[in-house]
Amino acid sequence: MNKAFLMKWAWKVLTNDDSLWRQLMNNKYINNSNFFDLERKLSDTTLWKAILNIRDKFQKGICRRIGNGKATSIWFDPWVPGDNTQPMPCVEASEGVSLVSNFIINKQWNEDMVRKWFARDDAKRILNISLPDSTTNDSWLWLPEPNGEFSVKSACRMLSTQNQDVHSDRKWRILWGASIHNLLKFLWWRILSNSLPTKGKIGSLFPITDKNCLFCSSYIESSFHLFWDCIVARSIWFGCSWCVRTSVPSISNWEEWTDWFIVSANRPHVMDLNCFLGGAGIIFESIWKERNSLLHGKQPIPLKVQVEYINSRFHEMDTIKESTNPPNIEWNPPPVGWIACNSDIAIGQFQATGAAVFRDTTGSILRVTTFRSNHCDPLPGEISAIIEGAAEAAKFGYRNVIFQSDSLNAVSALKSNTSDIQKLHFNIQEKVKKFIELSAEFNIHEIIWTPRSCNGVAHSVAQWAN
Ligand SMILES: [Zn+2]
Repeated sequence: MNKAFLMKWAWKVLTNDDSLWRQLMNNKYINNSNFFDLERKLSDTTLWKAILNIRDKFQKGICRRIGNGKATSIWFDPWVPGDNTQPMPCVEASEGVSLVSNFIINKQWNEDMVRKWFARDDAKRILNISLPDSTTNDSWLWLPEPNGEFSVKSACRMLSTQNQDVHSDRKWRILWGASIHNLLKFLWWRILSNSLPTKGKIGSLFPITDKNCLFCSSYIESSFHLFWDCIVARSIWFGCSWCVRTSVPSISNWEEWTDWFIVSANRPHVMDLNCFLGGAGIIFESIWKERNSLLHGKQPIPLKVQVEYINSRFHEMDTIKESTNPPNIEWNPPPVGWIACNSDIAIGQFQATGAAVFRDTTGSILRVTTFRSNHCDPLPGEISAIIEGAAEAAKFGYRNVIFQSDSLNAVSALKSNTSDIQKLHFNIQEKVKKFIELSAEFNIHEIIWTPRSCNGVAHSVAQWAN
């Protein structure tokens, strides 16, 4: 039976207390024991057996959503989103402390205690968890989906990546952090996750007779052959303005490829890694396009033309990079009768600090406020900064306020309707609710994105406060 669907049932057992199915299962099998501790019995139905069998894999995707922390154990429950959901306390004595609620005072993290109990990086991740303002019970999060709600699609995705080797982790992290165009990132992702439908890949799934490369017909068409090893790929890598000799490093897969190019001296013109990954994506894309048009019986494009095209895209990439470096847009004062609130957050190694700067229509600074934040993730951090600004604005009776932030994601999240909050990332849902509550204090308000260059004052104050 499809594993992802079994996970859906497991999720229902865990979360849907009121459903009829859950009640049936509870009466028959669970009897208020912990679902994860249930033993298999001979008398179990096939479906129930299959659900119990999927638990190990299912468990890797779940984590507690912390409300008041009273139903989550720091020893037995996964509760910190991230690679390690059950961080080991580094304090020996465990007397009396077993629940997450022991680390919460007045709906806030007890920062000193968290830092005392957990290693630095774990403490950072714990403090990054947003706690709700209202009294809420703990529940469950489904980590493969950003909004924390289970979906069959994300379960399939998780299952297919679980089957890959653990080494792919590193590749992911490198690529994830790269600031390259999303389309190229997607192509990269398909290559690294081995989901690009090359003939080699298709041949591993279905019996097809010809698995060989369309360009050279001498080797099986894998993504590594196609984009790196094939004679056509070699000519392109060497022929373009980068002049990369693909025969120099002795590498035979993407893993080794990443390891080779992560070293800056191995990259053409010692360029930065982002540029290199972006440029490599351009080469891949061009080869993939040409390969597909050959597959559909079209005339081949001469190598020289392909190389020229690639070079012009490299050039474009450089130009875009240069033009975004010194952006010369200036901050504009708000209309008469309005107050502008610019906010920003600076995330340091040990703490984050935020700032909100209020200005009137003449551009004069009315007030500046700074505050501390526990977030190590930029998005909840940026949103907290805007909320602090909104709370301050409400306190001082500003009625018409334009909030400006240089985080596009924060701005679009805060523009959500109440009904769409559930779709946002789980760690910002409570914050967005809070902003909507606060915004009722204003006569009229607007929230807009502003380039970093226009957010200079808030940015500097936040940096300085850190
Ligand atoms: Zn080939």
